Amino acid sequence: MNGHILLNDPLNHNPFDDALKDDELALSGVADLGHVVEPGAIDISHGTILYLEDVTVSFDGFRALNKLSLVIDAGELRCVIGPNGAGKTTMMDVITGKTAPDSGKVFLGQTLDLTRMNEPAIARAGIGRKFQKPTVFEQHPVWENLELAMKADKGWFATLRARLGREAQAKIEETLEVIRLESDARRLAGELSHGQKQRLEIGMLLMQKPQLLLLDEPAAGMTDDETMELATLLNRLRGTCSMMVVEHDMEFVAALAGETGRVTVMAEGSVLAHGTLEDVKREEAVIESYLGR
Ligand code: ADP
Ligand code: MG
Repeated sequence: MNGHILLNDPLNHNPFDDALKDDELALSGVADLGHVVEPGAIDISHGTILYLEDVTVSFDGFRALNKLSLVIDAGELRCVIGPNGAGKTTMMDVITGKTAPDSGKVFLGQTLDLTRMNEPAIARAGIGRKFQKPTVFEQHPVWENLELAMKADKGWFATLRARLGREAQAKIEETLEVIRLESDARRLAGELSHGQKQRLEIGMLLMQKPQLLLLDEPAAGMTDDETMELATLLNRLRGTCSMMVVEHDMEFVAALAGETGRVTVMAEGSVLAHGTLEDVKREEAVIESYLGR
């Protein structure tokens, strides 16, 4: 079976561009599972968007991830907290294909084995990643930043090429509204505040229509107001995509998790505790390793 059927942009493949991908997908055995998945769709028929089981990553014998297991439901906004060095960023590196695990399973939905895919293929499959530092095109207006981000996604752009004007414009306007930068659309991105740049970068990720958004300490360096505005933005994105947010700022985490949202506490490369924020804050191990006395 041709593995292409599981990719994001099946209509728009240059076979020479992607010569490797066929092999990767053929290796992944996805065809054996017998699911009929719509081309480009992630199979969330079991309610899971991300599945990690016993993932281990060693750097020169040091285990940055140590049998890490974690499941994220489709549509969930999961907060991950934990001390420095717990392996949070390494976990995101594994999910996005930047780091290959020594062992363990990493699946997007039921069928996509991320350990068999490279970084571009994983991004195309629908995982967007926000790094700590905003990376926007400073010399370009906000509007153009979103336009460029859309063009970077071959499939979406190609589909719209014939009728780019209106639909693309509508998507950009919708995104500007979501990130609350409507009135800054014509300003140069370089003139924005740190918080606005962070929101713009999230907007750029949204232009690629991710199914799962990974955000690594997105509130770092933000003022309190900017932090709360970011929390409002992420809460508004619920239902649009699943999210995993790594963060230290406990007020921010509280604003995202609410009373019922699940929070994962990592330490020393695995899950130390899991539950509502109130639950995990009460756990002795969490108090000792992370929250302090
Ligand atoms: P966190 O994001 O939770 O602070 P990291 O995932 O960045 O933790 O790091 C986990 C551990 O792995 C740390 O001890 C870090 O020094 C180590 N580490 C991370 N990346 C590398 C690397 N490329 N080479 C060697 N050690 C690394
Ligand atoms: Mg980190």
